[in-house]
Amino acid sequence: MPELPEVETVRRTLAPHLEGRRVVDVTFDDPRVARYPTDPARFAARLVGRRVRAVGRRGKYLRIALDDGGEWIVHLRMAGRLLWHRDPERRERFQRARVTLDDASAVDYIDMRCLGGMYRPDDGEGGRGTPAGLVGLGPEPLGVEFTPAVLAARLADRAASVKAILLDQRTVAGLGNIYVDEALHRARLHPLRTGASLRPGEVRRLHAAIRAVLVEGIRAQGVSFALYRDGEGRPGEMGERLTVYGRAGQACYACGETIVRARVAGRGTAFCPRCQPAAPRRAPRR
Ligand SMILES: [Zn+2]
Repeated sequence: MPELPEVETVRRTLAPHLEGRRVVDVTFDDPRVARYPTDPARFAARLVGRRVRAVGRRGKYLRIALDDGGEWIVHLRMAGRLLWHRDPERRERFQRARVTLDDASAVDYIDMRCLGGMYRPDDGEGGRGTPAGLVGLGPEPLGVEFTPAVLAARLADRAASVKAILLDQRTVAGLGNIYVDEALHRARLHPLRTGASLRPGEVRRLHAAIRAVLVEGIRAQGVSFALYRDGEGRPGEMGERLTVYGRAGQACYACGETIVRARVAGRGTAFCPRCQPAAPRRAPRR
């Protein structure tokens, strides 16, 4: 569930608490959370004693740079959370791991479904133990490398739906079901339009819409429908600002038509049939 704006919000709330601190203890309540090394004792031994240089992010991955040049990577996947606090007695339901810092504060990894986890890859970029999803990840949508031309190249000649193409993390990093639906509505594109069918003006509109919904999501500290919270346990406010996601059966804010829900790319998909027509409104210019 956490997508780029939610993970970025966690990054921003954790960074001031973690940067410069040394890890003094790592305990696992559930060994499944140690994704690499998979042996919890070995994982702990590789993290204890290290100082945090910077808390970064790539796509939906938190990449915490350490003083030995290596990384501690956290992937929240569907239901993972990181919670920073100063209460050694505190215990959350579904707490899976605790990383204690040298100022006696701690970061807990909480995950009802235990699909996410933590990685401490071997040293070097892309070293052994790097999550497979980080390899081949597309450009950061808010970075300079993500341009309309780059997006156009990734859509060109594709028979797949634009929704499926945007959910693919190799197209662009960090988008999931919520922000793809929001971006397509803002760009006035039907989720089943094929990549190949998009005209240059539509690609530019989509590019701008992707950036706009992500910026708005970060500004609102993310969506908190289910389990997501920021690094200090606060919910986000983006849920109240969504225009189509979770609004099937309600009126479109832009045109008043009823938002519908369909299955696209294997995912529940909400869109406005009037704002997002199945075919372009005008024939392409020759
Ligand atoms: Zn509409």
